[in-house]
Amino acid sequence: MLPPSLFFEVVEQSAVAISITDTKANILYANPAFNRVTGYSNDEVLGKNESLLSDRNTPAIVYETMWGRLLQQKPWTGILINRRKNNERYLADLTIAPVMDSKGVTTHYLGLHRDVTEVERLQQLTKNQKALIESVVNAATVAIVLLNEQGDIVLDNLTYKAYASETKSELAFDLLAAIKHNLGDQYEVLKRRNGSFKNQQISFHTAGQLHGRWFNCSGTWFSEKGFNTDEFFAAKKQTYLLLVANDITHIKRQEDEIRVNTMRALLAEEEMNQGIRETLLGAIYQMQEPSNLIQAATETLRRRLEGDEANEPLLAVLQQARESSQRAIETLKQCLPASQEREEFRVLNINELLRDILALSTERMLALGITVEWMPTSVLPQFNGQDKRLHSMFKHLIDNAMDAIEYGPRHGRELRVKTEGDDQVIRVIIEDSGPGIPAQLRLKVFEPFFTTRDHRSKAAGMGLTIVQDVITDHFGTVTFDPEYTQGCRVYVELPIRRDEQSFS
Ligand code: FAD
Repeated sequence: MLPPSLFFEVVEQSAVAISITDTKANILYANPAFNRVTGYSNDEVLGKNESLLSDRNTPAIVYETMWGRLLQQKPWTGILINRRKNNERYLADLTIAPVMDSKGVTTHYLGLHRDVTEVERLQQLTKNQKALIESVVNAATVAIVLLNEQGDIVLDNLTYKAYASETKSELAFDLLAAIKHNLGDQYEVLKRRNGSFKNQQISFHTAGQLHGRWFNCSGTWFSEKGFNTDEFFAAKKQTYLLLVANDITHIKRQEDEIRVNTMRALLAEEEMNQGIRETLLGAIYQMQEPSNLIQAATETLRRRLEGDEANEPLLAVLQQARESSQRAIETLKQCLPASQEREEFRVLNINELLRDILALSTERMLALGITVEWMPTSVLPQFNGQDKRLHSMFKHLIDNAMDAIEYGPRHGRELRVKTEGDDQVIRVIIEDSGPGIPAQLRLKVFEPFFTTRDHRSKAAGMGLTIVQDVITDHFGTVTFDPEYTQGCRVYVELPIRRDEQSFS
């Protein structure tokens, strides 16, 4: 059994301000810590009401609640504004507990209080700073997202929320996936070093919308001590990524317009060249046959009439005819416009490329009453290819589709262009509502000079041969879907070579 004097000493020596009052809150006892916190000596407080400490700024409702609880014989805890003897205000974190006798009647109140002014000040400061940061972050016209180590969004601003609802996706995850692919191994290195990246231009496409959105992204990793009770003495650091995305769509649109116009001029020139090339190749092909026949006839005659001088002039004429036809063929070959096979390879975005072509074809589609369904995958791997040749190739496929639709019925004229992609391959699917290609012709259409068009058409039948050449030069494949019965469906598959892979 502990001696009662020990309890007295514990209260006396406690660092917490302790007071004992009667039921009217008149102070009967105050410990030295109480004197220290309030500045009042025992002579000055004993017999006085605790209201002596009130700064008269605590709202009445607080006292009413306090007394309400005490009268129910329940303890009360709260913060009051107090005033020390020297008139200095302080915040008292006060707990009052009723003390009851053996009959359960309240005889005294026990008060314990601490000066928490500094703690409250710091808490308020933190709250204010948080509110300030949130207002600044929300006022920013760039999208700001904070992601934790697990990749969860822990903070985002209003601009980000607006973009995310507009693109109907968790934009940050898509952008981050694209950035990760762009940076490759570098991503993890930067993350480990709390590094940063900038100027990552990512295009984001939504099905049905011809124009994609472009974001210029930058990011910074930083580490902060987390707050976890079990890690209080050895708090682990959490790594965060601050991702900032600036919408640069308007700049990109202007660039697009310039690019589409340049492309229009280039394609017009290339179309003209291709027309000339097809015509000349057709002429060469047609001249080569009689020339070969003359050659064969000359050889046969020479063997049969060997030594017969009378026939020498005939052989000479045939020889001349052969030589002049070969000369004509050579001249035609020299007139062939240069092809773009040697064009440089560069990093391309197939979504953008197709979008450009659709933009170029808008006028014709409107004139033919074609409904276009543009279904790009939101983020497509970048592709290393020959810009002009790929443009011409896809333009040719889309032109073919429009030609087929024009030949087909007037109603339900539809063109669908879809893209898909993963780490391995980019797939472009072009569907038209035209008459389709009969099964027996699906391979033949790739042969030179084969055309299903009638003689009035100016097509020489070299188009799909050139399409296949371009795709083969990009290690890809082009096929017609034999299962598709509502028109024609073409698959173009372009493999991504790993060493050149990046995303946009
Ligand atoms: P008061 O006229 O004292 O009271 C305000 C309201 O409280 C009244 O409307 C009344 O309904 C209710 N009330 C007051 N006294 C009683 C009572 N005895 N029984 C039932 N209801 C009552 N106040 C501080 O400002 N700072 C302190 O540090 C502080 N410490 C306290 C410690 C203890 C142990 C106790 C019991 C009370 C303490 N108080 C403290 C409360 C203080 O006694 C006063 O109630 C308060 O300061 C308000 O004073 P007032 O003169 O403005 O109003």
